[in-house]
Amino acid sequence: MSAVLPAVIDPIRLAEEGSSLNGELSAKEMPRLRDLIADSSVTAQIILRFSRNAQGRMMEGTVTARLQLVCQRCLGAFEQVVTSEVRVALLREGESRSGLAVDADFMEIAGPVSLTALVEDELLLTLPMMPAHPQGGCAQTAQRTEGDASAATAASPFSVLADFRRRQ
Ligand SMILES: [Zn+2]
Repeated sequence: MSAVLPAVIDPIRLAEEGSSLNGELSAKEMPRLRDLIADSSVTAQIILRFSRNAQGRMMEGTVTARLQLVCQRCLGAFEQVVTSEVRVALLREGESRSGLAVDADFMEIAGPVSLTALVEDELLLTLPMMPAHPQGGCAQTAQRTEGDASAATAASPFSVLADFRRRQ
């Protein structure tokens, strides 16, 4: 079952101890992600294993969430499960990367790290640049929404400014 996760972690220490984290975090605590999703009452599932071996310290696992994304064509919400595979080599500040696993990302740890921000970063990296329904999957209202958008553009303050400049 899911445990309460610490808000702040020391990844280096967790790796030295061979610890793991298994639990959930609320999207409500993730302001950057919250701005991009239609429903922030969801949670992210976190499974992270910390280890130390001859190659160095590693943080590995998955971050998964079922998110309501906003379609950039019709502005309708749609559900997408996003999963981030985490494989990060943990370095102390100033520590050399040589000899570490070359297929992993690197994270230089200067002190305690916000677990929420770390999980939020992972989720943001998995989001599509332009979230959208599959081609042809938008609701009928999509056409009307696009019409409204172009009407708004015509009356934008920038075009007014352009007229103003021409008159100078
Ligand atoms: Zn759509």
